[in-house]
Amino acid sequence: MRPYIGRFAPSPTGDLHAGSLVAALASWLDARAHDGLWRVRIEDVDTPRCVEGADKRILAQLSQLGLVPDGQVEWQSRRTGFYAQALATLQAHGWVYPCACSRQDIAAALAAQGLTPERHASAVYPGTCRAGLQGRTGRAWRLDLARVLADLNEAPLVHWEDRWCGAQAQDVVAEVGDFVLRRADGLWAYQLAVVVDDALQGVTHVVRGEDLCDNTARQIVLQHALGLPTPRYLHVPLVRGANGEKLSKQNGAQALDLSDPLARLREAAAVLGLPQAPAQAGREACLTAWTQAWAARFGPAP
Ligand code: GLU
Repeated sequence: MRPYIGRFAPSPTGDLHAGSLVAALASWLDARAHDGLWRVRIEDVDTPRCVEGADKRILAQLSQLGLVPDGQVEWQSRRTGFYAQALATLQAHGWVYPCACSRQDIAAALAAQGLTPERHASAVYPGTCRAGLQGRTGRAWRLDLARVLADLNEAPLVHWEDRWCGAQAQDVVAEVGDFVLRRADGLWAYQLAVVVDDALQGVTHVVRGEDLCDNTARQIVLQHALGLPTPRYLHVPLVRGANGEKLSKQNGAQALDLSDPLARLREAAAVLGLPQAPAQAGREACLTAWTQAWAARFGPAP
């Protein structure tokens, strides 16, 4: 068995908040329960969404909370050469194609087929550029799912076992479609960067928020296409805001009040369904108690 390597991979689009702390704590506990390593990777490829200095503040907040990364922190913005190599590999197989479509083009093509994607749901790409650009200029690169799956002799229904959510399945062709690996603005897409980095950093276990659960199937397809191992996945519940939506930096999640770091850790542990540690317990005692409770639920078989 490969030695356990886990990771927390925040996007520096703002400071750590109650929701991202839950993912940080869960991934930290899982690593500790497995006697493994806990890496931190700053996912700053989507530069227009990044907030100046948020990376440093997230790292400082983690250290105030006592969640200390093993080894060097990585920044995706310094690793773009690896993403270019991965795209070149896919190009060499004929598994990607350039796409000239704008969002409006996609909406128009879907409307012509009588399809109107629901608000907020991302549209399944109708495949306009799959057969060629017809004189238009390609700006983004998309994965040709049907070709990849046919060449790998795999079905579009991707199955995986989530360690928290149980058996999962997603039809990537019907539900996702040919997704973008390099965006029209030249930036690397999250899907490609995350798959390449998890593999290059030897990540064996991914623990992250439930909102990313439905990204897992496309990441598994990409891993297969690139000949990379698939980590185990565990998606933890989200912290929801008063409006019932996922608490996120985008919907104005409050910055964490770290005047009492242990209180914030206790709140995060409660979201994870971990037992409340005695009121007088200090941080180390709490983290040890939660690690034991986590290990009993999710740890390696004794
Ligand atoms: N960077 C993503 C986020 O902050 C997490 C990606 C992942 O864990 O795969 O939401």
